[in-house]
Amino acid sequence: MSALRLSPVVQSLKPSATLAAAAKAKDLKSKGINVYDFTLGEPDFITPANVRQAAVAAMEAGHTHYTPSGGIPELKKAVCAAYKRDYGLDFTAAQVLISNGAKHSIHNVIASLCGPGDEVIIPAPYWVSYSALVELTGALPVIVDTSEASGFCMSADQFRNAITPRTRLMMLNNPSNPTGATYPVDQLEALARVAVEHDIPVLSDEIYEKLLYAGAGFRCFASFGADVAARTIIVSGVSKAYAMTGWRIGWTIGPVEVIKAMDNLQSQETSNPCSISQYAAVEALNGPQESVEAMRCEFEKRRDYVMGRMRPWREKFGVTFAEPGGAFYAFFNVNSSFGKPLAGGHTVYNATDFCTALLEQAHVALVTGDAFGAPGYVRLSFATNIETITAGLDRIEAFLAG
Ligand SMILES: *Cc1c(COP(=O)(O)O)cnc(C)c1O
Repeated sequence: MSALRLSPVVQSLKPSATLAAAAKAKDLKSKGINVYDFTLGEPDFITPANVRQAAVAAMEAGHTHYTPSGGIPELKKAVCAAYKRDYGLDFTAAQVLISNGAKHSIHNVIASLCGPGDEVIIPAPYWVSYSALVELTGALPVIVDTSEASGFCMSADQFRNAITPRTRLMMLNNPSNPTGATYPVDQLEALARVAVEHDIPVLSDEIYEKLLYAGAGFRCFASFGADVAARTIIVSGVSKAYAMTGWRIGWTIGPVEVIKAMDNLQSQETSNPCSISQYAAVEALNGPQESVEAMRCEFEKRRDYVMGRMRPWREKFGVTFAEPGGAFYAFFNVNSSFGKPLAGGHTVYNATDFCTALLEQAHVALVTGDAFGAPGYVRLSFATNIETITAGLDRIEAFLAG
């Protein structure tokens, strides 16, 4: 046996399925094949010019050193000001921690609150990393399946019924990746009441808060009163709203004790997030917000186009879906095509094989719902240009038609 024995927890870790699907698509592309890639979980736009310029200015001003581990005071202040401006909420800088992207924020929250034997309630379909990050701490993900009929929203009763004496955390993602679900305000408030009643902390991942369509509303989970805010840990960041995925800036807002613990952890594991990115994020939050709305409008056009194309698929192919109120994903059920001949002589029996056959046959890349705890479903990201969307949908249609 080699001395390079991996730890059991790392051995059990699966690679991110979305990144794996994107890698497969990239591999085909490198062979010169024109791939219609809908695996991307990030805006296709370039970061707004004012933000890019702020980064240059920060470098030129010499902001190239370590910063406080939990982020520069200017950015914490900008986060507080943004929540005041956008939602009328009052937070102090001591309640804010800046991390290396919202994914890092989520990891820090879970690592700070959970350990072996604890249970974490996660409504499915869920973002791929949630269950993996929970398992990394030795805690147990408790998956609550939501239905297409409910718009993929967990009810207060479902939440209540999943609670045990070992429950340490509930993780919510609103708007949701992969479903695009947006919680109606009364349903969100009902969840908040259950959290208070049973004293369960809630991690509310609100990274898609600025990407809302078709009259969908948004409420920050901490906005339902002081008793709710005392149990809420908000995670968000600049990646999706400002097209800043590569800059790696996310934040957590929560009770001071939790933030302090997370800062301790972060000071040992990564130190501060990139100094230059932090200054760029200050400009993103404090500067003009028009680019956020311009990108949202473009996403909404694509969403409307995709939905317009997909609605006839219900009757034609038995494809089912709930229309997304936010984020940039169409999430649809293709199990009516299982066991039937598809184009190119393919027959598939699950969503993972569906995606593989679709990629081989039609050179269209989607992500399997199996990765999100949603068998039978596939995820299409419309964060790509309309030409690719049009041609890709044509090809999916031809594949389904057999
Ligand atoms: C993209 C995404 C994140 C985190 O993005 P970062 O780039 O790490 O800030 C978090 N949650 C969900 C659901 C996402 O889709």
